[in-house]
Amino acid sequence: MQNLYGLTLEEMEQFFLEHDSKKFHALQLFLWLYDKRVESFDDMTNIKKEMLSSLRGHFTLNPLKIVDVQEDEDVNKYLFELSDGEHIEAVLMRHDYGNSVCVSSQVGCNMGCKFCESGRRKKVRNLETYEMVLQILMIEKLLGERISHVVVMGIGEPFDNYDNLIKFFTIINHPKGLAIGARHITVSTCGLVPKILEFSDFPLQINLAVSLHAPNNEIRNQIMPINKAYPIEKVMEALKIYLIKTNRRLTFEYILLKDINDSDQCAIELSKLIKGMNCYVNLIPYNETNNIDFKRTNTVQIMRFYDILKKNNVSVTIRREFGGNISAACGQLRSKKEEL
Ligand code: SAH
Repeated sequence: MQNLYGLTLEEMEQFFLEHDSKKFHALQLFLWLYDKRVESFDDMTNIKKEMLSSLRGHFTLNPLKIVDVQEDEDVNKYLFELSDGEHIEAVLMRHDYGNSVCVSSQVGCNMGCKFCESGRRKKVRNLETYEMVLQILMIEKLLGERISHVVVMGIGEPFDNYDNLIKFFTIINHPKGLAIGARHITVSTCGLVPKILEFSDFPLQINLAVSLHAPNNEIRNQIMPINKAYPIEKVMEALKIYLIKTNRRLTFEYILLKDINDSDQCAIELSKLIKGMNCYVNLIPYNETNNIDFKRTNTVQIMRFYDILKKNNVSVTIRREFGGNISAACGQLRSKKEEL
């Protein structure tokens, strides 16, 4: 049986049409889920009995299980158990502009970035659309506050789960759904070129972030195996097409790893690489994990790197750090239950 939280409004309409009913019931159903937030078919009082029993025969409304919550000052981490017993995490961050949730897109990850803790467990499976939608719905419910921003930067490579991701965006962005504005949604990829190209044609104005982390293939190959399949020049080529098609601004994420990619020379090379693109660079101080191979760049060098980019007219920010105390920081999402 399918979980109803994985259906777009259009798919619900399709269901009603195929079951000798009227399309408008789909909107009633959608509103029960996302406006009134009922959690049982019994509460959907304006839908006919026969139709409800047909819905019951096809769909579940099963939630995920929240099995652990860790709270820190501006950040909470939620551990979810999925129906097959797997675990994923999501992180809530409180900003002055609203509440943002960092969602996971896969159980495990196959990209194998050397510095990333989340990817140490190989991909077990993609998350279903409903499993992404429910991360947000359930955190909103527990919190009793609206989630205004979503970043797909948790466990997994979202573009390796493209179709479910697109449905997820369609549902949470829908004005009768969670109505999260496209400009308040960001997806981050390690650079899957064919999917960047496909995403250029997706009509919603969702922000794209690319985990670049190195200014050349030599360094990138060492830390991101995906670079062997899609080297920097191919990623840049795809991004230039993306920029022309969408007219949006792109984010490059750049983790600073001590003595690996943080030299002055790297900063200069990076400025040249992205010159003229409508983009900005988000410098991420590395969150040290159990991985002894990588160390965080010291603050003095982070500022030098920042200044070099600035001097070369690159828009640049340094990411505010969240969640270090509860292992909820970037790249640290890896449920305790599954730690090896
Ligand atoms: N697979 C996607 C989504 C993961 S997003 C991607 O690669 O973009 C998570 C972001 O955090 C990525 O930019 C990732 O490279 C970065 N990251 C991973 N480990 C980190 C760590 N230990 N410290 C800081 N950032 C890290």
